[in-house]
Amino acid sequence: MSGIAHSTITLQGRFARELQEMAIPWQAEDAPEPQLLVLNDALAVELGLDPEYLRSPGGVRFLTGNHVPEGATPVAQAYSGHQFGWYSPRLGDGRALLLGEVDSDGGLRDLHLKGSGRTPFARNGDGQAVVGPMLREYLLSESMHALGIPTTRSLAVVATGRQVQRESLLPGAVLARVAGSHLRVGSFQYARNTNNLDLLRRLADHAIARHHPSAAEEPNPYLALLEGVIAVQARLLAQWMLVGFVHGVMNTDNMTISGETIDYGPCAFMEGFDPGAVYSSIDESGRYAYRNQPVVAEWNLARFAESLAVLIHDDQDKAVELAVQALNGFRTQYSAAWFSGMKAKMGLPDLDDEQASPLVDDLLKLVQEAPADYTSFFRNLGKAARGDAGPARGMVLDLPAFDEWLARWQALQPDADAMDRVNPLYIPRNHLVEEALAAATTGDMEPARQLLTAVTAPFDERPGRERYAEPAPDDFGPYRTFCGT
Ligand code: AMP
Ligand code: MG
Repeated sequence: MSGIAHSTITLQGRFARELQEMAIPWQAEDAPEPQLLVLNDALAVELGLDPEYLRSPGGVRFLTGNHVPEGATPVAQAYSGHQFGWYSPRLGDGRALLLGEVDSDGGLRDLHLKGSGRTPFARNGDGQAVVGPMLREYLLSESMHALGIPTTRSLAVVATGRQVQRESLLPGAVLARVAGSHLRVGSFQYARNTNNLDLLRRLADHAIARHHPSAAEEPNPYLALLEGVIAVQARLLAQWMLVGFVHGVMNTDNMTISGETIDYGPCAFMEGFDPGAVYSSIDESGRYAYRNQPVVAEWNLARFAESLAVLIHDDQDKAVELAVQALNGFRTQYSAAWFSGMKAKMGLPDLDDEQASPLVDDLLKLVQEAPADYTSFFRNLGKAARGDAGPARGMVLDLPAFDEWLARWQALQPDADAMDRVNPLYIPRNHLVEEALAAATTGDMEPARQLLTAVTAPFDERPGRERYAEPAPDDFGPYRTFCGT
């Protein structure tokens, strides 16, 4: 494996070639003193990239976009987006570049850089990213992947050696991100808004080929594309909700066609169970609160459907009818996925829904009223399934009601081992993430490394990792996160 020359990295330029109207060829800004902070060896190997090369000076320059492989065409991608409900016709990669696609075993994967300098879409932004938020995306996305939730991945974070002005001067960084693609609902809004139907059709065909290939065989491929995206997003949203993830900025430009989670800005994992949980400092109205996420996803998908409608049917009334029918599938699919996940969390995957429904309702009521730490409560419920109800009982207020619940549940013989395979012990808790980012910003990567080790094996209890399983201390909070930094 070692010693693979730079020139053997072959990047396809599928997006750049097929969708030129949405791709501005562009170069990354020079990183004065690049320093590799973290590299995802396993992901590199999965992509057929040599980790040893990526650690070399040439490799680090490749990871900042300063060493472009022969034949590759880095581009800034155009897209639109509804941000907090308001439509911006021209967003696009203001500080990011698509280097190209890697042809790996799992199909084409985008290799993309975030923080690589101003582009024609930068508006008033400085084109920069800083170490803390890029490392945050690395930690959270790799944790999500380990939890089995579809997500963009993180290949590396490189400190650029540039100081970036935020509230104070902070070390600049570039994140190398890997994704099934960077096609978003906002990409379709952009193409639709140009009124270039040929472009819209090419974009839809590109999306079908990459993410929903079976749609091509359907009598109405574009309706099938809509249905395919609805299906993957319904599953994704259920997975977020089951694990207590709050995305924080579910604008249409941050919703993928692949069904992967994208853009880890002001996101957080919920601690105490609170349906109204909001962490983003800019989400003043709570539009993207925990409990609203499925409804927002449905709203975003309606914007996707509107963008596709001209392709779905020549008669627009008929197109709307078909699109609405497809959109109606979201709730059913979301609810089915969520409910089946909840049964698995309770260790009763095969219980019939009628029996499971009151059990779930009553349990969540108890967890919310406490409120109990969502993640550790379910893990402790696994202990209760093994006969030690103490830890779970210690987390609720209404003990008589909980004891009654426990008796009903235990009579159904929940599977404790199966519970431990779906209820994580280690998630990137906000206080641990903040601690790791603060240390990294002063040059100490050790806390980030330790946290990464814990959250990338989220279900396996290991001695010595107790502090990674514990909720934030009482003096931490209320937690707020910031995006666009
Ligand atoms: P995000 O909140 O990361 O999804 O970004 C929303 C939009 O703002 C995208 O078009 C980004 O490219 C752009 N953007 C965010 N931060 C910057 C920055 N520092 N410089 C230029 N553009 C930015
Ligand atoms: Mg974004």
